[in-house]
Amino acid sequence: MFRSVSAAKSALGDTWAWPNFQISELACRCGGRFCDGAYWHAPGFLNRLQALRDSCGQALIITSAHRCPQWNAAVGGAPMSRHKTIAVDILLSRQERQQLRMLAEAIGFTGIGLARRFLHLDLRPRPAVWYYPGSFDLWQT
Ligand SMILES: [Zn+2]
Repeated sequence: MFRSVSAAKSALGDTWAWPNFQISELACRCGGRFCDGAYWHAPGFLNRLQALRDSCGQALIITSAHRCPQWNAAVGGAPMSRHKTIAVDILLSRQERQQLRMLAEAIGFTGIGLARRFLHLDLRPRPAVWYYPGSFDLWQT
């Protein structure tokens, strides 16, 4: 865990191995309200995220990744949300949603949340797939 993007960059910059992702897009987005852009470093998670990017061949737009505890609460995140360590919400725009979900499962993401506008991915000991309110019908096709 790093307190800020700049602290993470100076510590990890030379060894950053995930070409399609930046620390700034994976850090807390509270904008300085509660933290200085806290960043949770998890190479195994990043390896899977990069593998997903390589497999789908399209940019993955991350709308939320690490959240400091206060920001997680402010945006209505579950108290035990994996966003408090590392998880990503990927915007569903250009991607074909079922393909992205299948690739994510094949790559080894074990927490898969299916929303209307985003795909949530995390790693957890017991695999889980869930729908967000109003998303079920969308994911049946
Ligand atoms: Zn924050």
